[in-house]
Amino acid sequence: MAGEVQLVHLLDGIGEDAATEVRKCLFGLELQQLTELVHEFGHKPYRARQLAQALYRDWVSELTEVTTWPKELQAEACRAGYGIGLPKISQVFTSIDGTERYLVRVSGGQTVETVWMPDGDGGVPDEDEDEVVGADTGQPEDRMASGHRRGRPPQIYRRATICVSSQIGCAVNCQFCLTARLGIERNLTAGEIAGQVVAVLKRQKIKVGRDRINLVFMGMGEPFLNYEAFMDAVRLLVKEVHIPESRMTVSTSGILPGIERFGKEPVRPKLALSLNASNNGVRETIMPITRKWPIEQLLAAIQQMPRQPRDRVTFEYVLLGGVNDRVEHADEVIQLLRNANLPAYINLIVWNPGPGIAYSQPQPEDVDRFQKRLMAGGVKAFIRRPRGRDIYAACGQLKRTSEVAGV
Ligand code: SAH
Ligand code: SF4
Repeated sequence: MAGEVQLVHLLDGIGEDAATEVRKCLFGLELQQLTELVHEFGHKPYRARQLAQALYRDWVSELTEVTTWPKELQAEACRAGYGIGLPKISQVFTSIDGTERYLVRVSGGQTVETVWMPDGDGGVPDEDEDEVVGADTGQPEDRMASGHRRGRPPQIYRRATICVSSQIGCAVNCQFCLTARLGIERNLTAGEIAGQVVAVLKRQKIKVGRDRINLVFMGMGEPFLNYEAFMDAVRLLVKEVHIPESRMTVSTSGILPGIERFGKEPVRPKLALSLNASNNGVRETIMPITRKWPIEQLLAAIQQMPRQPRDRVTFEYVLLGGVNDRVEHADEVIQLLRNANLPAYINLIVWNPGPGIAYSQPQPEDVDRFQKRLMAGGVKAFIRRPRGRDIYAACGQLKRTSEVAGV
């Protein structure tokens, strides 16, 4: 149901005195819920469709911007305590590589992090990667700036990626991850998850359908520990915002019941598992959750998931210097995947340092050797380029830092 939000802006001309009230969010409600709501106001279902258009395709921020609605209906919704409740970008950090990290304000005044990568996240390529779309000149300037600034015509994005958070903080306690240091504050609602996406699409003046947008649910939090809200957000983004699920990837640290349930979903993003180690011994030291659900059980559950013949599963593997980056580890990974009989991609992620985390980055030659070893063993491996490391936007660096790192 609708989450509650404190709207800070005044509703132009409508019930100004209500502006400081706790309001109920419309953003996040699916069409059926909107239909029930307008019914309560004594209106026909087409009013709900108009509202869905305004919320999810026109990206309005205020009830008064729902111009297909008569003023009286806007006022009625307002009087009943409803507001749009689209999460707001409250701070922007811009990296030299064009990545933008946002603090997005959600209900209760808290903020979550969302990241915009205009040129993708550098990991596993899209299936149709070679296809040339539009007029991207490939010049860094062209790729990095969004066209609407400095009066340029809007650029057409080829594989822009939005990294979305699912919780405030995280309960999983992976030893190498900065988000883990926050502990878990709370789950995000479906509206807050989908709202991060819409807030970024709006800021970047994206045209869904023309621009190719990928979503990765790899921001703060463990999506499978906030399963319902995460999947509700996915359905909203697919059905209402019109981003196909084939352009979405969700990453999990390995929540077995979540993986099993996810496998039964009729509409679902692609799955990535944060493998991060080649055996349970090493994995337990860096991801204590392994004691609950060991690698073999996770791989077996993934194996059970229905897949299209061409589908591959992505495994993420954060390389920690001296911990999991030796050739024998690469050999163990090859063996694991062979035993599990899984067509897979491996995304190698060079560990991004964070204050107070006692790991070291792998040597570049070790990263290279690790990748070559995997490839020689028949495992497709990609090295994910770090994005926005200078603004703490890279994987595992999301911790609501408002400073800019000197890295
Ligand atoms: N909680 C989910 C999704 C968010 S984390 C998960 O763990 O899969 C997204 C990815 O960032 C995971 O693969 C995680 O292993 C990786 N990661 C976490 N901290 C990192 C760090 N400091 N450097 C590089 N990658 C990191
Ligand atoms: Fe949570 Fe993922 Fe970080 Fe682990 S790596 S603590 S699951 S956000």
